[in-house]
Amino acid sequence: MNQSMRTQTTAVHGGIRKDDTFGAINEPIYMTSNYRIPTDGTPVDWSGTESNIYARNRNVNQMVLQDKLCALTGAEDCAIFASGVAALTGVFVPFLNTGDHVIVSEVCYSATNLLFRKYLPEKYNIEVTFVDSTDTEAIRTAIRPNTRLIHIETPGNPTTEISDIQAIATLAHSAGALLSIDATFAGPVSLFPLRLGADLEIHSMTKYINGHGDSLGGCVLGKKELLTQVKEIAMVNFGGILSPFNAWLIARGLVTLPMRMAQHSRVALAVAEFLEKSPAVRFVWYPGLESHPQHNRAKELMHGQYSGMIAFDIKGDERAHQQFLNELKLVTHAVSLGDIESLIVYYDKNSDKLPHYPQIFQDGFFRFSVGLEDAEDLIEDLQQAFLACNLI
Ligand SMILES: *Cc1c(COP(=O)(O)O)cnc(C)c1O
Repeated sequence: MNQSMRTQTTAVHGGIRKDDTFGAINEPIYMTSNYRIPTDGTPVDWSGTESNIYARNRNVNQMVLQDKLCALTGAEDCAIFASGVAALTGVFVPFLNTGDHVIVSEVCYSATNLLFRKYLPEKYNIEVTFVDSTDTEAIRTAIRPNTRLIHIETPGNPTTEISDIQAIATLAHSAGALLSIDATFAGPVSLFPLRLGADLEIHSMTKYINGHGDSLGGCVLGKKELLTQVKEIAMVNFGGILSPFNAWLIARGLVTLPMRMAQHSRVALAVAEFLEKSPAVRFVWYPGLESHPQHNRAKELMHGQYSGMIAFDIKGDERAHQQFLNELKLVTHAVSLGDIESLIVYYDKNSDKLPHYPQIFQDGFFRFSVGLEDAEDLIEDLQQAFLACNLI
């Protein structure tokens, strides 16, 4: 493969293997749980991930996806899991030992929050400090002699905060800790945590990478030396492996990721600008808006593509919020994000996560995943819902 291919070309051609048996130009789906082992007396490494033995060690469709992700991000290696949460566990299990200390973004995915607030401290005596990770000094202050991992989400789910990955990487490394970045909200084609010094990059592939809302999946990217541990411990021996069929679906989705991200970013910026001007709106956060508190940092890190995730709120009581969700016609009230179609969820002010979010979010807000629709249609949908709710 040509090393200097551009992004969309890499998304098409990267990681493709040739079907030597029938000459199919699309990678077939290898629905096999086990592979023939050579009988030449070569010793077999039963936990190994370098040869085909059993589909939990390695499987062909997973390798295709893995190689495409490496080609797109420049990562040395990649491990594929059955969900984003399994990928997170694929980092937390291999690299944390009893008594280790972890620093985690205060704003983070609900399972990450629960793992670090409850399960890992209670079951394995992991010490945890939650910090506002946009504040690099707060991270410096939180570092202890036993800090082993700093785990950051950028942009943060659901509030879209941007942390200074490069500065945090320097801090982590001088403390002898690893830095892992959950970059699900950005996808792997506009933000490059590994190039900024992060050791491990994690994505829920359920979101932008697959993009079509028809499969769960997760991946961990980084240096081979670290990924060998991720694969051998978390993948082979904890077993959260992705099926060949789902790996094939996600590899298919990944082909159009650069084009989709460009459209998500373009449409979301137009929608965010509309929301910012609307008298119905209490506040809007989108990293591409100049009013976003870390806009300058986002500008440096995200190469002009700020993804499709917007957080905003309307001026209205609880009932108005429910009615607004009911009045939307194109936008669907549903969890998840990064889908071809626009999705919205409401975090009401009684949610137990809100006290950890920035002040402006604490009265409740919407997380809006802008899909691939035309901006004008989404804006008309929002506008008619504002009207129906007497917000304008
Ligand atoms: C969705 C999500 C996850 C979890 O991924 P699943 O595929 O649902 O298991 C992790 N991190 C972030 C930021 C997410 O948005």
